[in-house]
Amino acid sequence: MNSSELENMIRAILAEKSTQTTSPEATSSGVFSQVDRAIDAAYEASKAYMQQPLKIRSDIIALMRQELEPLISEMAMRSAAETGMGNVMDKVAKNQASLFNTPGVEDLTTTALTGDGGMVLFERSPFGVIGAITPSTNPTETILNNSISMLAAGNAIYFSPHPGAKAVSLWLIAKIEEIAWRVSGIHNLVVTVAEPTAAATQAMMAHPRIALLAVTGGPAIVGMAMKTGKKVIGAGPGNPPVIVDETAFLPQAAKDIVDGASFDNNVLCIAEKCVIAVESIAESLMIMMEKEGAWRVTKAEDLEKLRRVVINERGEANKALVGKTPAVILKAAGIAITPAPRLIIAEVPANDPLVSVEQLMPVLPIVKVSDFDCALKLALTVENEQHHTAMMHSQNITRLNTAAKVMQTSIFVKNGPSYAGLGIGGEGFTTFTIATPTGEGTTSARTFTRHRRCVLTSGFSIR
Ligand code: NAD
Repeated sequence: MNSSELENMIRAILAEKSTQTTSPEATSSGVFSQVDRAIDAAYEASKAYMQQPLKIRSDIIALMRQELEPLISEMAMRSAAETGMGNVMDKVAKNQASLFNTPGVEDLTTTALTGDGGMVLFERSPFGVIGAITPSTNPTETILNNSISMLAAGNAIYFSPHPGAKAVSLWLIAKIEEIAWRVSGIHNLVVTVAEPTAAATQAMMAHPRIALLAVTGGPAIVGMAMKTGKKVIGAGPGNPPVIVDETAFLPQAAKDIVDGASFDNNVLCIAEKCVIAVESIAESLMIMMEKEGAWRVTKAEDLEKLRRVVINERGEANKALVGKTPAVILKAAGIAITPAPRLIIAEVPANDPLVSVEQLMPVLPIVKVSDFDCALKLALTVENEQHHTAMMHSQNITRLNTAAKVMQTSIFVKNGPSYAGLGIGGEGFTTFTIATPTGEGTTSARTFTRHRRCVLTSGFSIR
């Protein structure tokens, strides 16, 4: 082959590659009008991405961190304004953790076995196109976290954001897609549709080119995904209890609980949803929580007013108050309190709906129990076998270990605020997709891979 033939061949390969990776509708925004077009384009992108070196994946993540960091405040403001949930300051912390504390390619560890029969490599390979369904409560945090994990794992992503967080989600998805395209030269690694309706999400779940569903949301959508017959990483609801026994260091426990339960107005699925305190210290704990900025409901009529606005007639959380500030919730209940507290606390019986319903509001019921054994029993009931999150404050190591083992939750935080379990003010990486019913727990890049085995039948053992 002479040099001009070689040049022509390279040109033809490059031309073919560019048509493979760019659909007719492709733009660098990744936002399509139709679900199937978006998925087909992402499928082509995933094939091209699989051929690229790991360095491209790392470079995409590095550029995301560099270019999205200056936008974190804007991201938090857009998200709070559009969803009407949470507060900007805490959203900044959540997005910061998501962008910088979600592991990248380094999470994809290789293991090897060698022996007389040769060598086996166990490696983590991409799935193809992942259908990622994201919630209204942590819209940008989940998109950042899922994008880093799934792109690090070598996949393309079709995002189904919550319609209530459409604008901020599409804005962020377009930015990530554009960054991924600039680094890799591949269009449509991160796609979505302009109208992410429930019907669009259902069409995505049924599409044959979606290799894996990663669902972060409430029970209905996780259940629906699990009926598709596809592999599902299901990150469902929780109702995290926090146990406080008589050995706990109460000032710290009170601070941690108020910090955790008020963080982003309690929209996090991992946030403290119910305190179960041993009787002998419960009153002191509540007094210390008041010192940390909580307001305690003491009148029975106020508690009734609060219950009526927090829980609707169907016995569910009143969606209109999810993620709202204590001031808004108190106003809705017709209770006048100034200055506005960080958190509302109320002593209630164990069977109160405020205890059993996942409210996602800064309203924290407190139940008194006689001892640790009763506390653990009630915590199991409150958590309702969702295997999500639980916390405990105690100085008794045996009890801490017993509770962690018995609760069987994906996250168990000892002597800290709930968000320590997300790597915010605690050790460990950050995730906003905690796979509870399907058991993967705190997800990271390796969760979104196929575990593959490659065998060399002779040699490569030097023992
Ligand atoms: P949601 O269930 O209302 O929505 C989640 C996603 O599912 C959204 O994208 C939504 O559009 C989609 N969806 C919901 N119903 C659908 C339907 N019938 N058809 C098609 N799509 C549908 O949840 P939310 O209010 O956005 O988020 C809060 C819930 O998510 C809470 O229950 C919380 O505990 C849970 N959550 C879990 C985790 C976790 O990691 N385990 C993280 C965040 C939130």
